[in-house]
Amino acid sequence: MIVDYRDLENFMMCPRKFCLSRELERPHLSVPENLLFVGFSLESPVIEGEFEGIRLISKPDLVVKERDGWKIVLKKRAKKFKEKYALEAAYHAFVFTRAGLIVEGVEVLSDSFSRRMENWRNLVPIIENILLEMVRISEDPDPKVGRHCRYCDFLEECEKRLLERKSILLVNGIGEETRRILRRMGIETLEDLSNADQRVLEKIFGREKGKRFILAARAFLENRVIMIEPPGDLPEGIVVDIEYYPTEERDFLYGFLMGDEYRYFLFEEEKDELAEFLDSLDNGVRFYHYHGPERRKILRMVENKKITLLDVFSILRRHFVFPVMSYSLKRIARYLGYKWRTSLNGYEIISLYENWRRTKNEEILKQMLLYNEDDVRATKRVLDFMRSHSSFS
Ligand code: SF4
Repeated sequence: MIVDYRDLENFMMCPRKFCLSRELERPHLSVPENLLFVGFSLESPVIEGEFEGIRLISKPDLVVKERDGWKIVLKKRAKKFKEKYALEAAYHAFVFTRAGLIVEGVEVLSDSFSRRMENWRNLVPIIENILLEMVRISEDPDPKVGRHCRYCDFLEECEKRLLERKSILLVNGIGEETRRILRRMGIETLEDLSNADQRVLEKIFGREKGKRFILAARAFLENRVIMIEPPGDLPEGIVVDIEYYPTEERDFLYGFLMGDEYRYFLFEEEKDELAEFLDSLDNGVRFYHYHGPERRKILRMVENKKITLLDVFSILRRHFVFPVMSYSLKRIARYLGYKWRTSLNGYEIISLYENWRRTKNEEILKQMLLYNEDDVRATKRVLDFMRSHSSFS
């Protein structure tokens, strides 16, 4: 078995995710010349160690040769140090030692902080235990449902698995804790939940949640979308989606869909053009977005006009119950038949942007735009679905 730090993270979050992602094709990892014989700093070296038959891969951002060994450097985008970096630092140092290299120190740094990890050795027993558990895990572990599922690539596979068992973990908002409470009430399966006493559930979980739990169970059992009540009028408008660069706490791409026409503005390079575009819009224009901070951002930029911003996600949640585990745009739009043209996720788009800023490569820009255009078109798909059920349609 070959393991890198991402595997370890996946495993801790959800062993099933670790197993499923292991089956995907991985880029070929090559271990360059032995660091022991190199006397200078190296960026992104690949080091391989061994533990209990596991091939461990470490690929830190930088290693610096110091007097008696190597300093490992991990670079982060975050503004603040996160506790989880300590385990990551210890993992890399552990692999280095397993490869026979002497570790002088490990440092985690970003533009805003720098932390030398003095006590990484204390975390090695934890890493060893996790690795041993990874070896012992069955090929097909159960889903470990939580907020982390929202953007997981295996969400639909897990939905299928949980549906076979009629598990209430399918219902959005039911995690292990809520499941325990429901179990104590004798509610174990989707059938139990769909037949539960609504008044009792509303008393325990609140009016909105109690009702939604029952409706969601029915939506799964009947494999259909349930409308709570028809949405109101949703007139034509502009769909907007903004991409954000957390390292510098600023936006980098604004995408708009007007009718069928997609327009975009790269925020740094085309800031003036974006302002002109917003200025040219009619008074009373309506914008739609899916969740996120678009409302606040657009309102801040258009001060001298009366505009309306509507969150498609909130309207959808108020009026419909879908047989899906997550109401992320990706899952909902896919349920409605939208075909995504890229498999990029929110983290990958940031790396892509950084890459594009360095290289100005046209192909990378195309990928970024495709990702953003997919988001606005998918939002429109959801909007059109709601319009078709509107009391005004
Ligand atoms: S969807 Fe959730 S339970 Fe399924 S593999 Fe992903 S993280 Fe695990």
